[in-house]
Amino acid sequence: MSSQPRMPIESGVPDHFQYMHPMLRRNYGAWAWHDRPRPGVLHHVAESGEEIWTVRAGTQRQMDLGTIRKLCDIADQHAEGYVRFTIRSNIEFMVSASEKVQPLVDALTREGFPIGGTGNSVSMIAHTQGWLHCDIPGTDASGVAKALMDELYEEFTSERMPNRVRLSTSCCQINCGGQADIAINIQHTKPPKIDHDQVANVCERPAVVARCPVAAIRPAIVNGRPTLEVDERKCICCGACYPPCPPMQINDPEHSKLAVWIGGKNSNARSRPAMHKLVAAGIPNNPPRWPEAAAVVKKILRAYKEDARDWERLGEWVERIGWSRFFELTELPFTRYHIDNWRGARHSLNASAHIRF
Ligand code: SF4
Ligand code: SF4
Repeated sequence: MSSQPRMPIESGVPDHFQYMHPMLRRNYGAWAWHDRPRPGVLHHVAESGEEIWTVRAGTQRQMDLGTIRKLCDIADQHAEGYVRFTIRSNIEFMVSASEKVQPLVDALTREGFPIGGTGNSVSMIAHTQGWLHCDIPGTDASGVAKALMDELYEEFTSERMPNRVRLSTSCCQINCGGQADIAINIQHTKPPKIDHDQVANVCERPAVVARCPVAAIRPAIVNGRPTLEVDERKCICCGACYPPCPPMQINDPEHSKLAVWIGGKNSNARSRPAMHKLVAAGIPNNPPRWPEAAAVVKKILRAYKEDARDWERLGEWVERIGWSRFFELTELPFTRYHIDNWRGARHSLNASAHIRF
């Protein structure tokens, strides 16, 4: 064996320290305390005594080159040349003197970037890729994020909610996405439509059969050609067969809807992490502004803001008041589809430990 050490492959996420503001680098992991002088501005004091102010701004999500250049120019002129993006796609600028905060805020405001997203605000929506970057989306998650944040502008720039509110959107039912106080997710309502002429050309049929969580897909011959068929009584319309087999089209302009789920939480502060639960289904997938989905989210936020106690997260508020009171306060219809009494998983869920692609 060679004594030469194996060199790393130069791909993947680069070392982030090289891009970090020098003061953050010097005091990494050694911060004494922090506060928020105003919504959208954070102030951190290091154990060394150094202080740094962070200004957080919202963006329109999918950004053109001109906007990115504009943000970089603001960073060069007003923020010591450094920026970073948060996990929710807020952009943050760091400055090492308090008197640099207001000129930076003014420059961002002049260019139309709202300052906020900190503390008990509705921060930017975490979203999946949508039509621009993925091959299977049923909606444009980033478009929903932009349309909704336009309507929630005031809640981004102020901290008037009982606790922080984290929203997410997701454009298929099976892949990316996460838990959120309010999540807007695609919901397919019909089984896939199969183009039998294409299946044998495009799909690796055993892999597609293995992919179905309820074993609803089986091999078939149609017009003398090998293909697949779906037992529609078993199909739960999850869409998992569509990515490995595009001829099993599940996206539909009418039957792919949006659903709103609430009460998810990743942190273990005050209460355990929680999974979100369905509260509204069958909402039209209506680009470019998705007004029906926005109306449902605003109803939930209004009720939460008026009724929750200080520091209650959305899911904790519902746990305290009960689901029937939640539906009364939000005026959302409660239907039989809200009752999760499905037992099929015990008998038919594909629980094989084989790795499936
Ligand atoms: S949620 Fe699904 S459709 Fe959307 S980006 Fe992720 S994998 Fe693609
Ligand atoms: S993978 Fe999902 S959508 Fe496809 S047949 Fe199975 S249950 Fe239906």
